Amino acid sequence: MNHILLVEDNVDNQMVIEDLFELDEIDGVLVTVSTAEDALRRVREVWPILILMDIGLPGMSGLEATRLLKQDEATRHIRIWALTAHAMKKVQQQALEAGCDDYLTKPICGADLVNRVNAFLANHGAKEAA
Ligand code: MN
Repeated sequence: MNHILLVEDNVDNQMVIEDLFELDEIDGVLVTVSTAEDALRRVREVWPILILMDIGLPGMSGLEATRLLKQDEATRHIRIWALTAHAMKKVQQQALEAGCDDYLTKPICGADLVNRVNAFLANHGAKEAA
């Protein structure tokens, strides 16, 4: 089963994304944490194939957590998509520079997230089978 790790401190944003998984719109299991520190611990237990990473977090930022994960041989292969506010072009650029593979803009559009995650999972599955 594919695990997806959501790193998000805003409860409303957590709920929007959790609801999509509860509705079985996405063929994966969502694990939610609220801090980057928790994310770095949970990654090694859950081994997600995708991390949805908020940038503004209490304590360590999502950018710093992304840098650490991408520097680590064991975790650098894990895809990380930043969650950034719609207008924050500069933050999107910083996220890519920190090593994020892509980003989703907030407020989260449920249909867009479902489509992109499912396309990613389908592509990932095809590569595993090849
Ligand atoms: Mn936040």
